[in-house]
Amino acid sequence: MLENLSERLQGIFSGLKSKGRLTEDDINAAMREIRLALLEADVNFKVVKNFVARTKERCLAAEVLDSLTPAQNVVKIVLDELTELLGRTDSRLVLGSRIPNVIMLVGLQGSGKTTAAAKLAYRLKQENHAPLLIAGDVYRPAAADQLQTLGDEIGVRVYRGDGRDPVAIAREGIQDAIDNLRDVVIIDTAGRLHVDADMMEEAQAIKQAVKPDQILMVVDAMTGQDVVNVVEAFSAAVDFDGVIMSKMDGDARGGGALSVREVTGKPIKFISSGEKPDSLEVFHPDRMAKRILGMGDVVSLIEQAVRVQQQEEEELEAERMMRGQITLDDFVMMNAQMRKMGGVQKLVSALPGGDKALASGQVDEGALDAMEVIINSMTKAERAKPELLNGSRRARIARGAGVTVTDVNQMMKKFNETKKMVKQATAGMEQQASRKGKK
Ligand code: GDP
Repeated sequence: MLENLSERLQGIFSGLKSKGRLTEDDINAAMREIRLALLEADVNFKVVKNFVARTKERCLAAEVLDSLTPAQNVVKIVLDELTELLGRTDSRLVLGSRIPNVIMLVGLQGSGKTTAAAKLAYRLKQENHAPLLIAGDVYRPAAADQLQTLGDEIGVRVYRGDGRDPVAIAREGIQDAIDNLRDVVIIDTAGRLHVDADMMEEAQAIKQAVKPDQILMVVDAMTGQDVVNVVEAFSAAVDFDGVIMSKMDGDARGGGALSVREVTGKPIKFISSGEKPDSLEVFHPDRMAKRILGMGDVVSLIEQAVRVQQQEEEELEAERMMRGQITLDDFVMMNAQMRKMGGVQKLVSALPGGDKALASGQVDEGALDAMEVIINSMTKAERAKPELLNGSRRARIARGAGVTVTDVNQMMKKFNETKKMVKQATAGMEQQASRKGKK
């Protein structure tokens, strides 16, 4: 899957590598080739256009890591953008606390729903859940038999019902899960060959009746350009939570996998690549992006360079804070850290005399949160340079945060005091250190 794209991209990069320095023309030529490679992989043309525009802009902005060659920097940017395109956020399936948890699968006929339902059940079973499969496709006569066969194969109970009403079957199936102590149900619904109103109405009716915890859309990775229309239609009708990309083992171009996230904003949660029950993998955007780019050695070089840069940035940051130059963003960060350590009250109570201070009401747990609301109403520039905060800016911030200007002024006073304290403390530490050094 996507091997052709992978080969094409690697060819483009090795062409760049032989050049050493890269001119704007080189970048433009490479971007044209990337555009063609993506289109040939059947990635949606709008998605390609945006992807290339973003990538090109970053390449031309000379946003570079010194430790990488110009060609490696281009690879890094393409890798970043590819990961972004596939969805940077965590896409794991998180089950809710309701028992049984209800997962509903939607998608076109032939997209691989029934197969995916069984694979998902198998996966959940491996994770010590007790799933139940519901055969909600009452139109394709063989669908329930197919699900039953798959269920028998993996040792998972299948509820078929005997009616023709998928809403009733879904309801009864959930009751069957309760009666048989199953903690997750997976509803396989009917699909049509093309998007049509009846299919959407039925999906909506099931959704309304059983209020699924998760709706996953099964999308055939080989759908090509049409993937946009299909997912948009489902998205509008049932607003699904994530995607299972099926048939990733196909030899075709597989561009659907690269388009779906950008088009729907919904994460790909699983990729299905084969007929066997265990061929459903959790989707990792970064791993997929790396797999598409191939070039394991270049990728690890890039990762190394990024790590070094992050470390340098962190050191600079620490140095800045040591010099007492804290910003309002640091203030918010300190607040978050404080919260992580159990909140102000807990920290204060651990100090000598802390309990007394707490008892006298000198410590206000909500104060830090109130500060954060005010800081969040500031622009980035204001947070970095608090001296910008004149009267009219303070009035605007107060309105945004829903507080009075006096609150803003008090907050700034506290901030300035903290800043002074940090400066004094670090100066003290430095003096001590230099005294020690002289000894
Ligand atoms: P449904 O109509 O959406 O329920 O689709 P099915 O689950 O019946 O799948 C349609 C066809 O695609 C069947 O022949 C499946 O065996 C096949 N199929 C489903 N998922 C995969 C997959 O990940 N890889 C491959 N190669 N075939 C698949």
